[in-house]
Amino acid sequence: MTIGVLAVQGDVREHLRTLARLGVAGHLVLRPEHLAGLDGIILPGGESTAMWRLMTRAGLASPLRESLVSGLPAFGTCAGMILLAREITNWPETFFGVLDIAVERNATGRQVDSFEGSVVANGLGEVPAVYIRAPLVRRMGPQVKVLALLGDAPVLVREGNVFAASFHPELTGDARVHELFVQICEKGER
Ligand code: GLN
Repeated sequence: MTIGVLAVQGDVREHLRTLARLGVAGHLVLRPEHLAGLDGIILPGGESTAMWRLMTRAGLASPLRESLVSGLPAFGTCAGMILLAREITNWPETFFGVLDIAVERNATGRQVDSFEGSVVANGLGEVPAVYIRAPLVRRMGPQVKVLALLGDAPVLVREGNVFAASFHPELTGDARVHELFVQICEKGER
């Protein structure tokens, strides 16, 4: 199992640590050639606009989009969810656009409004969830499955091989959300 972690910006180390806890080696993805042979890729939290700018500069945005369109399993957390979304309600650009959701950026407020809670996720039970300037899903297409909610906003969603969380499971000691992604990579609908 070879899972890449997009490493241009964001909380890369925390994802590597969580994968290691599951016995999976994460591979840093900084350049197009790092996409070869991956079974899945994690897009971490950070700043989606900065990540996009850096990916574009590295010549990584287009080949990664092609991989995603051809079915490479992806897991986006927070900024990663924004990168995957088809629409951003309060931002003029979209990035990869491979997940049929509309997200509102920074919907949980500013950095100082960060909070830790827990969500009850389908098939996983109660998992801890850290929200930092998190995006919330405001609309979604019929193929998108909701795995967890915060109030009435979906915060863990899946459409085929594309999986995304508004929160940061990598900042908790709990690896179950990542474990679910590893299963998606193993069984992938490719
Ligand atoms: N607000 C950030 C963005 O728009 C995401 C924050 C995060 O990843 N913790 O990209």
